[in-house]
Amino acid sequence: MTLTKKAESRPPSRPSASWGLASRPGVPWEYAPAPEATDHVQIRPEYGLFIDNEFTPARPKKTFQVINPATEEPLARVAHASKADVDRAVGAARRAYARTWSRLPGSERAKYLYRIARILQERSREFAVVETMNSGKPIKESRDVDVPLAAAHFFYYAGWADKLDYAFPGLTPRSLGVAAQVIPWNFPLLMLAWKIAPALAAGNTVILKPASTTPLTAYLFADVVRQADLPPGVVNIITGPGEIGMELVSHPDVNKVAFTGSTAVGKMIARAVAGTHKKLTLELGGKAANVVFDDAPLDQAIEGIINGIYFNQGEVCCAGSRLFVQESVYGPLLDKLKARLSTLRVGDPLDKNTDVGAINSATQLAKIQELVDSGVQEGAEIFQPDCELPTRGYFFRPTLFTSVSQSHRIAQEEIFGPVLSVLTFRTPEEAVEKANNTPYGLSAGVWTEKGSRIFKMVAAMKAGVVWANTFNRFDPTSPFGGYKESGYGREGGIHGLGAYLSLDGES
Ligand code: NAP
Ligand code: MG
Repeated sequence: MTLTKKAESRPPSRPSASWGLASRPGVPWEYAPAPEATDHVQIRPEYGLFIDNEFTPARPKKTFQVINPATEEPLARVAHASKADVDRAVGAARRAYARTWSRLPGSERAKYLYRIARILQERSREFAVVETMNSGKPIKESRDVDVPLAAAHFFYYAGWADKLDYAFPGLTPRSLGVAAQVIPWNFPLLMLAWKIAPALAAGNTVILKPASTTPLTAYLFADVVRQADLPPGVVNIITGPGEIGMELVSHPDVNKVAFTGSTAVGKMIARAVAGTHKKLTLELGGKAANVVFDDAPLDQAIEGIINGIYFNQGEVCCAGSRLFVQESVYGPLLDKLKARLSTLRVGDPLDKNTDVGAINSATQLAKIQELVDSGVQEGAEIFQPDCELPTRGYFFRPTLFTSVSQSHRIAQEEIFGPVLSVLTFRTPEEAVEKANNTPYGLSAGVWTEKGSRIFKMVAAMKAGVVWANTFNRFDPTSPFGGYKESGYGREGGIHGLGAYLSLDGES
């Protein structure tokens, strides 16, 4: 039987057929479209660079197009910064550091950060919609995860701004100066918050370069900076291609570099910064193991596995992209997993019922496709639910591979898409050995009823964060970061604050 709920009064943003609303096998009834309204947001046709609290055109004036990956339609043009613009932005940040920000008592800096946090909450709906339109992530995620967590980061670090001496007892914390921050496209606003909140709390000024595909919430944040009356030059935002990111982190007047993105670019930045006085944190890729033991609550584990790899279309550095299942529960777990996978709703990111939205760019979609093709060619068995994809935009079916061997590219390389590789193990020792067989070390998951086994696994798995009986949990109080090729340094918590300070005994 096919039941269709009465349509809402607002018409869907597109003809419903293109969002795959035909009933699917195994899905008893379909939801009516529930699109989030977009008429309350104002995206300007063009954005300049944000320097000294003003939007200013790049010099020479040059712009590039930003699109909505779910529709391939243009959203805005943004400034394409030049080397001279990087100089301007660093100059503004340096002046603000010397004249205002570093001279303010921590309690005053805290007031600004609280103000930003509250404005983010007040404007959360607007931020969620713009984030979804620009990145392709489902509105329920930008609304319930990205934006609230971004505000939480500002609240959390606001609390530390006047307590630095207590955070590092016996040491003398001092701000570093000007911070250059380069962020990726998978969590545009949240990564901005992870970078800017601790930097400002510690007394630094910043220049942030968002990813070229997702600068719009950063420019919306620039409005918040003005609304919060932050002194000019404390937060500067510039857009441009990767080379501009390199100009920024290499600038001689920068004291701190923070980067989140690919391991390849992270290595280039590490080389560029080597031998300078600059303090560096790198948050790079991952290939997390999610390990399910035979005593795990299977239904709960299924939800964790799904959340682990299909949250944000799998475009998550800590995604649980390698699933290790104890052989004795492999059959029942896989049946449940395939059934659950078939209920995921793929389509319009602005629809409140969508689980899997659009891939961020054509380039990323092609990368996912290439790695999935390699999985098939190397002999793994592919499973994809029978769901209809929108005809325009960059969409990819949630995918699961079985018969995967450790040497397959899909078991080794970061795919950064909704693709899960399922492997098996017999003993805890084998699970640890296989889980650690990766150049990365960002995150991991373990599912078991036994507390002692959780502690043993947590200690043995080489990952910066290990979740037990849950996955993809984030909290501003909790440090996050990796080992090996996943980078170094921590963001979040007191550790994240320390990354923006010089402490006694450190140069
Ligand atoms: P990326 O090149 O590392 O981009 C991340 C950020 O670095 C963007 O702001 C980018 O600017 C900038 N950038 C690019 N080249 C640079 C350079 N030479 N010097 C300084 N900054 C530079 O990542 P991507 O190309 O978008 O994605 C490639 C792969 O990286 C993905 O498939 C995924 O596996 C991984 N990735 C990981 C994360 C993570 O959270 N760890 C995030 C994103 C991607 P533009 O946007 O202007 O190029
Ligand atoms: Mg790149």
